[in-house]
Amino acid sequence: PYRLGPRITDWDEQRAAWLAENPHMRTTPKGRPRMLLITGSQANSCKGPSGDHFLLKSIKNKIDYCRLHDVDIYYNMVLMQPEMDDVWIKLPLVRKMMLAHPEAEWIWWMDSDAMFTDMTFEFPIEKYEKHNMVIHGWEAKVFEEKDWCGLNAGVFLVRNNQWTLDFLDLWAPMGENRGNIRDQVGKMFTAALQGRPANFEADDQSGLVYLLNTLREEIAPKVYLESSYYLHGYWVILSEKYEEFMRNNKPGTGDHRWPFVTHFVGCKSCSGAYGDYPAERCLTQMERAFNFADNQVLEAYGFQHKTLTDSAVLRTRNETTRPIDVLRNVGHDTTSRSSA
Ligand code: UDP
Ligand code: MN
Repeated sequence: PYRLGPRITDWDEQRAAWLAENPHMRTTPKGRPRMLLITGSQANSCKGPSGDHFLLKSIKNKIDYCRLHDVDIYYNMVLMQPEMDDVWIKLPLVRKMMLAHPEAEWIWWMDSDAMFTDMTFEFPIEKYEKHNMVIHGWEAKVFEEKDWCGLNAGVFLVRNNQWTLDFLDLWAPMGENRGNIRDQVGKMFTAALQGRPANFEADDQSGLVYLLNTLREEIAPKVYLESSYYLHGYWVILSEKYEEFMRNNKPGTGDHRWPFVTHFVGCKSCSGAYGDYPAERCLTQMERAFNFADNQVLEAYGFQHKTLTDSAVLRTRNETTRPIDVLRNVGHDTTSRSSA
């Protein structure tokens, strides 16, 4: 079958040896396992009128989150393997990043149409000590209903180890775009899974649900289906509630009170094609998600957007001759704010 690259069988040993040679690379300055967030977009400019501007906002959003949480970031704009195009582009990229970045314990894929909306929430790395993959999903929907939307493949993390390499070897052949393989596999997915459209070529998300079900005993114990917070959050149920969250709650929970990630599934801002929702609605809500998150970034600098649909900002505190005092207070004591 199709392979992403030469078969490697001793990656854990190779990586351990590298870490032994480079002990200073083992953890972040704060002593946490290193994470590398990867995302990306197509090589050419968007056909949609504001697609590229949205991509810019989306990468700024990720740069901000990663800076605040010591996560490394890589933005991909190339097709590393012609057989793995479109939504499958992430697979060869994940593998490449694993092998080229042995310092990274976790590789974190995030779609370009997903944004961080809780800038304070720290990925709870310790929770997944015994797991090799973390993805937003629900046991019952994946295993009982075999629903192709039982998990969402737009955001996931994999551990940089042999297990993940082997797992990618199982996953990738389903998306091979040569001959009519991807169409054939798509038919198989539609027959096996709940709710999946007919005449829809194989997608990476169905591939995951399919693999988890067919190789449940081998794979499922290592895959953490997360739903206690929004590692992926469906924008339709979240983005109109941002003001309510701001009124009633505080960032840091990542859950229904303040979603960690908002993902614009079904919006096609870049392609210019008509997605599942009117472009107008998508663009407005994407702008709101960006500003909602940006407010949490701007807080440190004493600004807030006038409203969630306004790129203009207001000062939230006066300039001072004692900036370090402000620095000590930001994020701890918001009652000391004064309006300018
Ligand atoms: N992608 C990419 N290059 C491409 C096509 C897609 O990097 O040529 C990435 C991009 O980050 C995109 C993701 O693949 O967000 C998945 O596609 P999309 O978000 O459109 O899928 P959906 O979430 O709507 O199923
Ligand atoms: Mn997406």
